[in-house]
Amino acid sequence: MPVPKHKTAKTKSRMRKATGYYKVDALPVSTCPHCGAKKVPHRVCDACGYYKDKQIITKVVKEA
Ligand SMILES: [Zn+2]
Repeated sequence: MPVPKHKTAKTKSRMRKATGYYKVDALPVSTCPHCGAKKVPHRVCDACGYYKDKQIITKVVKEA
């Protein structure tokens, strides 16, 4: 079994983590078919509370 010649320095592994798999990218965006607002795919729409033509969350609209 191959063995690394040197131990990976703390700095090196931390540098790798800072640019690679560790860093979270911006969430993917899709549009809601009900209201057209931007939303995260496979999640209930934040603006209208719909998911797949079904109302999941009833939004209470405050009237001024
Ligand atoms: Zn919506």
